[in-house]
Amino acid sequence: MPKTYRIVLLPGDGIGPEVIAETRKTLEALAPLFDLTFDFSEQLIGGVAIDETGSPLPDATLTACQQADAVLLGAVGGPKWSDPAAAVRPEQGLLGIRKALGLYANLRPIKIYPQLLTASSLRPDVLAGVDLLVVRELTGGIYFGPRQEGSEEAYDTMLYTRPEVERVVRVAARAARGRRGRLTSVDKANVLASSRLWRQTVTRLMAEEFPDVEVEHVLVDAMTMHLIRRPADFDVIVSGNMFGDIITDEAAMLAGSMGMLPSASLGDGSRGLYEPIHGSAPDIAGRGVANPLAAILSAAMMLRHSLGEEDAARAIETAVERALDAGYRTPDLAHTALPDQTVEVVGTEAMGEIVRSHLTPISV
Ligand code: NAD
Repeated sequence: MPKTYRIVLLPGDGIGPEVIAETRKTLEALAPLFDLTFDFSEQLIGGVAIDETGSPLPDATLTACQQADAVLLGAVGGPKWSDPAAAVRPEQGLLGIRKALGLYANLRPIKIYPQLLTASSLRPDVLAGVDLLVVRELTGGIYFGPRQEGSEEAYDTMLYTRPEVERVVRVAARAARGRRGRLTSVDKANVLASSRLWRQTVTRLMAEEFPDVEVEHVLVDAMTMHLIRRPADFDVIVSGNMFGDIITDEAAMLAGSMGMLPSASLGDGSRGLYEPIHGSAPDIAGRGVANPLAAILSAAMMLRHSLGEEDAARAIETAVERALDAGYRTPDLAHTALPDQTVEVVGTEAMGEIVRSHLTPISV
């Protein structure tokens, strides 16, 4: 009997539907190779949901997500819904679904593909071998603490509790255990009380529960320099919400293209939300040129983290590498040819098809 997984697809706006269509077809092609069945349910979120129902996160979407094994999202937003004064906005759908599913850890792997070494603005010798994972706390810290806003005075509060720190550090430490066994915790403990609690909690938890994982503490200002100077030295990086927000964007630039980077948001159970880090790219939407690889790689993260299908996850990642090896690029990566390589520029659907043609039932 094939194992059946219930997957909610939230294509959303702009290029979201284009990249999610290729992701769905890729999972459908993968299923028979690993004796899996996917039970897909497509639901509304974001601007398209506002247009059809008046809400960026309709009840039907929420219910379907709460009953699913995992959720795959494209992107939300676009110029049509960008009035900052509007009462309902597409990104409320995204924040709402993260909150409703209790997703407090955001995982962003940054891997530099040797085939794309010239895509970044950094030198190839600095980037060679970069393979890191940033785990950002997603539901606490200064973005959610008490605040007041006046015309003469305003404040935000960076508040963390010990359990909030522990649960996200556990996610990061477990990930480190399955990788190279090294965890870097980022804080500002020389100045901030909340960072001193963060650091004490990390030190104690790692000694008690993960003595096999090597841990180091780095101040956030130093971390921004290390990420540019010696990014290949890091394995898993964990940090609070605001520092993580900044570090993840900096780390994304190591890869050189938004179109290659997947992400996962996890909570206590195995259910997670998976999405490319890019937005709805209204400038290229509807033209069939969006890079679907970030979305397809998000499906690989889903197989690994929510479904426990490591072999199937590796099969997708290997197929993406083979497609790049064979010289295929979407237009965002057209400039990445290495000196000894010719590239062929293809559209969204063709890139999805090339990845599917490289899927094989490998095992790790
Ligand atoms: P964006 O990521 O949509 O686009 C930035 C640039 O990268 C654009 O030039 C775009 O063409 C390019 N790009 C992005 N993804 C690509 C892909 N897969 N293939 C090829 N090129 C790609 O960011 P933005 O322009 O700042 O935002 C556009 C809209 O998306 C806004 O409404 C914003 O609010 C929304 N947004 C949504 C999310 C999300 O849903 N998680 C994240 C970021 C932005």
